Amino acid sequence: MALLQLSVMSLKYIKIKAGEQGLKNILERLPEEDKIVLNMKILPTEWYPFRTYVNILTLIDRQFGNGDLSVCREVGEWSAERDLKAVYNIYSKEIFKDPSILRTAPSIMWKGYYDKGDLVFPEIPNTLDVTEATAKVIDFPDAAKPNCTLLEGWIGKVMEIIIGGGHKARVREVKCRANGADYCEFYGVRVKRGDDSAYISHRRF
Ligand SMILES: [Zn+2]
Repeated sequence: MALLQLSVMSLKYIKIKAGEQGLKNILERLPEEDKIVLNMKILPTEWYPFRTYVNILTLIDRQFGNGDLSVCREVGEWSAERDLKAVYNIYSKEIFKDPSILRTAPSIMWKGYYDKGDLVFPEIPNTLDVTEATAKVIDFPDAAKPNCTLLEGWIGKVMEIIIGGGHKARVREVKCRANGADYCEFYGVRVKRGDDSAYISHRRF
């Protein structure tokens, strides 16, 4: 089973939405084995089992959503935005306004969240005229719909921020390990074209 740092983001999301007491109330509803994990005086940098993380996401969906996991997508967007403004802010700088960064940045960020697997964009053209992209989660042992839905939001926001200029993307999972596929695959399509000027100044030709 994989271990995840991303759980820490999910807990922060609950705390911002519901406050300290709200967080405690929600975590009270976790299964006993997850409570034991959380009560081990976990530091912000520690990693959680995949099962505990998925249970936290399920509680977030019940508390703040309507059972369709759309709030998990929101947690993914929120996490990507937060991390690209702080820890990984180098990728949101203008000099990096290039879709080819999608080859490297999401993979590096993945390794900060998950102790196994990788997130890859197999084909990224070297032009802003890219209107669609496919991302795959490979070599990852676990899959659960709350995490996959979170990744839809996370990948979409990463595409938007890295490409920059106000472009908007919509990402949906098209193959899932949870449904018996060999890996989870996500298809992203640009739904709004933004301002290309920041990007054009860095073009080579
Ligand atoms: Zn999946």
